[in-house]
Amino acid sequence: MDVPMPPPLEPLDETWERALCVVAHPDDMEFGAAAAVARWTGQGKWVGYTMVTSGEAGIDGMHPDECRPVREAEQVESARVVGVGTVDFLHQPDGVLEYGVPMRRLLTAEIRRHRPDIVITGNFRDTWGGRNLNQADHIAVGRAVLDAVRDAGNRWVFPEQVADGLEPWGGVRAVWAAGSPDATHAVDTTDTFSAGVESLKAHQAYIDGLGWENWDPAEFLEGFGRATGQRLGVAFAAPFEVFPMGWGG
Ligand SMILES: [Zn+2]
Repeated sequence: MDVPMPPPLEPLDETWERALCVVAHPDDMEFGAAAAVARWTGQGKWVGYTMVTSGEAGIDGMHPDECRPVREAEQVESARVVGVGTVDFLHQPDGVLEYGVPMRRLLTAEIRRHRPDIVITGNFRDTWGGRNLNQADHIAVGRAVLDAVRDAGNRWVFPEQVADGLEPWGGVRAVWAAGSPDATHAVDTTDTFSAGVESLKAHQAYIDGLGWENWDPAEFLEGFGRATGQRLGVAFAAPFEVFPMGWGG
């Protein structure tokens, strides 16, 4: 029986200057998207990271109070490796994030502060494809990101931020969800693939804490990168689902 070929992917638009990546946890960008970030910073674009939590509930054998600074330091290093110098931590509680107005308020402030053309988040669909369930924090953050992008442009939503000097920002053209099973687009990461691997390896305490014996970050990223690359017609690529946000998009 023939296995059906997954559909081809379109190349992502690269005619932008600033992107803000908003994800639930340290390491969310590094499971596939970091090589794309390395490509973009290499083109001279500005990319910033916003971590909604510090991933402090992510290591079974380490208390969150001990874990938090370790994971923050690993994320800052992981970002540095791919050319990202701005990493904000919003210090929301890892594992129990809730979609709602309080999270939209926090993310709106981040978008108004950084004024990105593109906002990137992680996959927030129910699954990673098939029956591999997604995680609750990822779903909550992704949904709040979509709303916050619109909230950011409306001066009457969270007006206290505007009163405090944060101007409304309606300039976000699209939200891109990295690693979505419904990806429509991809970016060629062939030249920056190894930077993406190094970026994931920076999460050493987290990887050790997973206790996956003989797990090789390079091999792991190669599997996904190659499969996506085939759909774009290149060696390695990272997949993104595109949500146009402007009226013109
Ligand atoms: Zn995560």
